[in-house]
Amino acid sequence: MGRAPGTRLGRADTEVYEGVVQDLIDELGQLPGVGPKGAQRIAFHLVTANPEDVRRLAATLIEVTEKVKFCRTCGNVAENDECRICMDTRRDTSVICVVEEPKDVAAIEKIREYRGRYHVLGGAISPMDGIGPEDLRITELMARLADGEVTELILATDPNLEGEATATYLARLCKPLGLKVTRPASGLPVGGDLEYADEVTLGRAFEGRRPLNV
Ligand SMILES: [Zn+2]
Repeated sequence: MGRAPGTRLGRADTEVYEGVVQDLIDELGQLPGVGPKGAQRIAFHLVTANPEDVRRLAATLIEVTEKVKFCRTCGNVAENDECRICMDTRRDTSVICVVEEPKDVAAIEKIREYRGRYHVLGGAISPMDGIGPEDLRITELMARLADGEVTELILATDPNLEGEATATYLARLCKPLGLKVTRPASGLPVGGDLEYADEVTLGRAFEGRRPLNV
Protein backbone atom coordinates (compact mmCIF):
# COMPACT_ATOMS: atom_id res chain seq x y z
CA MET A 1 0.00 0.00 0.00
CA GLY A 2 2.07 2.79 -1.48
CA ARG A 3 4.94 3.51 0.81
CA ALA A 4 7.55 5.55 -1.04
CA PRO A 5 10.54 3.60 -2.36
CA GLY A 6 13.34 3.47 0.13
CA THR A 7 11.04 3.84 3.13
CA ARG A 8 9.85 0.26 3.06
CA LEU A 9 10.27 -1.61 6.28
CA GLY A 10 13.33 -3.77 6.36
CA ARG A 11 14.54 -2.75 2.96
CA ALA A 12 18.05 -2.25 4.25
CA ASP A 13 18.14 -5.85 5.44
CA THR A 14 16.76 -7.37 2.29
CA GLU A 15 18.40 -5.14 -0.30
CA VAL A 16 20.92 -7.51 -1.73
CA TYR A 17 20.48 -7.23 -5.47
CA GLU A 18 21.20 -4.48 -7.88
CA GLY A 19 18.81 -2.01 -9.43
CA VAL A 20 15.79 -3.32 -11.23
CA VAL A 21 15.93 -6.85 -9.78
CA GLN A 22 15.76 -5.38 -6.29
CA ASP A 23 12.91 -3.10 -7.37
CA LEU A 24 11.01 -6.14 -8.61
CA ILE A 25 11.62 -8.00 -5.34
CA ASP A 26 10.40 -4.96 -3.40
CA GLU A 27 7.23 -4.65 -5.50
CA LEU A 28 6.43 -8.35 -5.25
CA GLY A 29 7.12 -8.30 -1.52
CA GLN A 30 4.29 -5.83 -1.04
CA LEU A 31 1.70 -8.24 -2.42
CA PRO A 32 -0.48 -10.00 0.14
CA GLY A 33 0.78 -13.43 1.10
CA VAL A 34 4.21 -12.97 -0.50
CA GLY A 35 7.03 -12.75 2.01
CA PRO A 36 10.62 -11.68 1.23
CA LYS A 37 11.63 -15.23 0.27
CA GLY A 38 8.61 -15.70 -1.97
CA ALA A 39 9.28 -12.34 -3.62
CA GLN A 40 12.83 -13.41 -4.36
CA ARG A 41 11.70 -16.73 -5.82
CA ILE A 42 9.09 -15.12 -8.07
CA ALA A 43 11.52 -12.40 -9.15
CA PHE A 44 14.15 -14.91 -10.28
CA HIS A 45 11.51 -17.01 -11.94
CA LEU A 46 10.43 -13.96 -13.97
CA VAL A 47 14.00 -12.95 -14.80
CA THR A 48 14.73 -16.35 -16.31
CA ALA A 49 11.28 -17.02 -17.79
CA ASN A 50 10.30 -16.80 -21.44
CA PRO A 51 10.03 -13.03 -22.15
CA GLU A 52 6.79 -13.63 -24.06
CA ASP A 53 5.17 -15.16 -20.95
CA VAL A 54 6.31 -12.27 -18.79
CA ARG A 55 5.01 -9.74 -21.29
CA ARG A 56 1.61 -11.46 -21.24
CA LEU A 57 1.54 -11.33 -17.43
CA ALA A 58 2.43 -7.63 -17.49
CA ALA A 59 -0.30 -6.95 -20.06
CA THR A 60 -2.88 -8.78 -17.91
CA LEU A 61 -1.87 -6.75 -14.86
CA ILE A 62 -2.39 -3.53 -16.78
CA GLU A 63 -5.64 -4.77 -18.32
CA VAL A 64 -7.08 -5.68 -14.94
CA THR A 65 -6.47 -2.20 -13.54
CA GLU A 66 -8.15 -0.65 -16.57
CA LYS A 67 -11.06 -3.02 -17.12
CA VAL A 68 -12.30 -4.37 -13.84
CA LYS A 69 -15.02 -2.36 -12.20
CA PHE A 70 -17.36 -3.00 -9.31
CA CYS A 71 -20.96 -4.07 -9.80
CA ARG A 72 -23.28 -1.11 -9.19
CA THR A 73 -25.80 -3.41 -7.52
CA CYS A 74 -23.82 -5.78 -5.30
CA GLY A 75 -20.28 -4.37 -5.25
CA ASN A 76 -18.68 -7.54 -6.59
CA VAL A 77 -15.95 -7.26 -9.22
CA ALA A 78 -17.44 -6.93 -12.69
CA GLU A 79 -16.43 -6.25 -16.26
CA ASN A 80 -19.65 -4.37 -16.95
CA ASP A 81 -21.94 -2.14 -14.88
CA GLU A 82 -23.36 -5.25 -13.27
CA CYS A 83 -21.60 -8.48 -12.37
CA ARG A 84 -22.43 -11.85 -13.91
CA ILE A 85 -24.33 -12.99 -10.83
CA CYS A 86 -26.63 -9.95 -10.71
CA MET A 87 -27.31 -10.28 -14.44
CA ASP A 88 -28.12 -14.00 -14.17
CA THR A 89 -31.93 -14.30 -14.27
CA ARG A 90 -31.77 -17.88 -12.94
CA ARG A 91 -30.52 -16.68 -9.56
CA ASP A 92 -32.97 -16.50 -6.67
CA THR A 93 -33.83 -12.85 -6.08
CA SER A 94 -35.42 -13.48 -2.69
CA VAL A 95 -32.11 -14.14 -0.90
CA ILE A 96 -29.12 -11.86 -0.46
CA CYS A 97 -25.90 -13.12 1.09
CA VAL A 98 -23.88 -10.29 2.65
CA VAL A 99 -20.10 -10.68 2.57
CA GLU A 100 -17.13 -8.45 3.29
CA GLU A 101 -15.07 -8.74 0.10
CA PRO A 102 -15.39 -9.96 -3.50
CA LYS A 103 -13.07 -12.87 -2.61
CA ASP A 104 -15.79 -14.14 -0.26
CA VAL A 105 -18.24 -14.26 -3.17
CA ALA A 106 -15.73 -16.45 -5.01
CA ALA A 107 -15.36 -18.73 -1.95
CA ILE A 108 -19.14 -19.22 -1.62
CA GLU A 109 -19.63 -19.69 -5.36
CA LYS A 110 -17.14 -22.55 -5.22
CA ILE A 111 -19.45 -24.63 -3.02
CA ARG A 112 -22.13 -24.44 -5.74
CA GLU A 113 -25.02 -24.63 -3.31
CA TYR A 114 -26.03 -21.04 -2.92
CA ARG A 115 -28.30 -19.76 -5.70
CA GLY A 116 -29.22 -16.33 -4.38
CA ARG A 117 -27.47 -13.03 -4.89
CA TYR A 118 -24.78 -11.20 -2.95
CA HIS A 119 -24.02 -7.88 -1.39
CA VAL A 120 -20.37 -6.94 -0.87
CA LEU A 121 -19.86 -4.51 2.01
CA GLY A 122 -16.27 -3.62 1.23
CA GLY A 123 -15.02 -4.56 4.69
CA ALA A 124 -16.29 -4.89 8.25
CA ILE A 125 -16.97 -2.49 11.08
CA SER A 126 -13.70 -2.01 12.96
CA PRO A 127 -13.37 0.90 15.38
CA MET A 128 -9.67 0.03 15.82
CA ASP A 129 -9.07 0.71 12.13
CA GLY A 130 -11.45 3.65 12.07
CA ILE A 131 -13.99 1.83 9.90
CA GLY A 132 -17.58 2.65 10.79
CA PRO A 133 -20.90 1.60 9.20
CA GLU A 134 -20.81 4.72 6.99
CA ASP A 135 -17.64 3.42 5.33
CA LEU A 136 -19.36 0.25 4.14
CA ARG A 137 -21.97 -0.29 1.43
CA ILE A 138 -24.82 -0.44 3.92
CA THR A 139 -26.99 2.34 2.43
CA GLU A 140 -26.87 0.44 -0.87
CA LEU A 141 -27.92 -2.75 0.93
CA MET A 142 -30.89 -1.06 2.60
CA ALA A 143 -31.97 0.33 -0.77
CA ARG A 144 -32.01 -3.22 -2.19
CA LEU A 145 -34.17 -4.42 0.68
CA ALA A 146 -36.71 -1.61 0.38
CA ASP A 147 -39.08 -3.16 -2.17
CA GLY A 148 -39.76 -6.30 -0.11
CA GLU A 149 -38.63 -8.79 -2.78
CA VAL A 150 -35.85 -10.07 -0.56
CA THR A 151 -37.14 -12.33 2.22
CA GLU A 152 -33.89 -13.75 3.59
CA LEU A 153 -30.63 -12.05 4.39
CA ILE A 154 -27.65 -14.31 5.07
CA LEU A 155 -24.95 -12.48 7.01
CA ALA A 156 -21.79 -14.26 5.94
CA THR A 157 -19.26 -11.78 7.26
CA ASP A 158 -16.00 -13.30 8.53
CA PRO A 159 -16.13 -15.39 11.72
CA ASN A 160 -14.00 -12.94 13.70
CA LEU A 161 -14.63 -10.00 16.04
CA GLU A 162 -15.21 -7.42 13.30
CA GLY A 163 -17.33 -9.79 11.23
CA GLU A 164 -19.52 -10.69 14.22
CA ALA A 165 -19.96 -7.02 15.16
CA THR A 166 -20.94 -6.18 11.58
CA ALA A 167 -23.47 -9.04 11.44
CA THR A 168 -25.05 -7.94 14.72
CA TYR A 169 -25.21 -4.34 13.53
CA LEU A 170 -26.92 -5.33 10.29
CA ALA A 171 -29.33 -7.70 12.02
CA ARG A 172 -30.46 -4.87 14.30
CA LEU A 173 -30.75 -2.46 11.41
CA CYS A 174 -32.88 -4.89 9.41
CA LYS A 175 -35.08 -6.02 12.27
CA PRO A 176 -37.92 -3.57 11.50
CA LEU A 177 -38.10 -4.95 7.95
CA GLY A 178 -39.30 -8.34 9.23
CA LEU A 179 -36.85 -10.33 7.07
CA LYS A 180 -35.50 -13.73 7.95
CA VAL A 181 -31.93 -12.88 9.01
CA THR A 182 -29.54 -15.81 9.26
CA ARG A 183 -25.85 -16.43 9.87
CA PRO A 184 -23.89 -19.47 8.63
CA ALA A 185 -23.59 -22.06 11.39
CA SER A 186 -20.55 -22.36 13.58
CA GLY A 187 -17.92 -24.81 12.43
CA LEU A 188 -16.16 -22.13 10.45
CA PRO A 189 -12.71 -21.49 11.86
CA VAL A 190 -13.26 -18.84 14.52
CA GLY A 191 -11.16 -15.74 14.16
CA GLY A 192 -10.44 -16.63 10.56
CA ASP A 193 -11.33 -15.49 7.14
CA LEU A 194 -14.29 -16.93 5.25
CA GLU A 195 -12.06 -17.66 2.26
CA TYR A 196 -9.85 -20.02 4.28
CA ALA A 197 -12.71 -22.38 5.12
CA ASP A 198 -12.67 -25.48 2.97
CA GLU A 199 -15.61 -26.09 0.65
CA VAL A 200 -17.17 -28.88 2.73
CA THR A 201 -17.08 -26.81 5.93
CA LEU A 202 -18.45 -23.75 4.16
CA GLY A 203 -21.18 -25.84 2.53
CA ARG A 204 -22.23 -27.27 5.91
CA ALA A 205 -22.16 -23.85 7.55
CA PHE A 206 -24.49 -22.54 4.85
CA GLU A 207 -26.89 -25.44 5.08
CA GLY A 208 -27.02 -25.16 8.86
CA ARG A 209 -27.45 -21.39 8.92
CA ARG A 210 -29.36 -20.14 11.92
CA PRO A 211 -31.59 -17.17 12.63
CA LEU A 212 -29.64 -14.33 14.19
CA ASN A 213 -31.67 -13.02 17.09
CA VAL A 214 -30.81 -9.52 18.24
ZN1 LIG B 1 -23.51 -7.78 -8.79
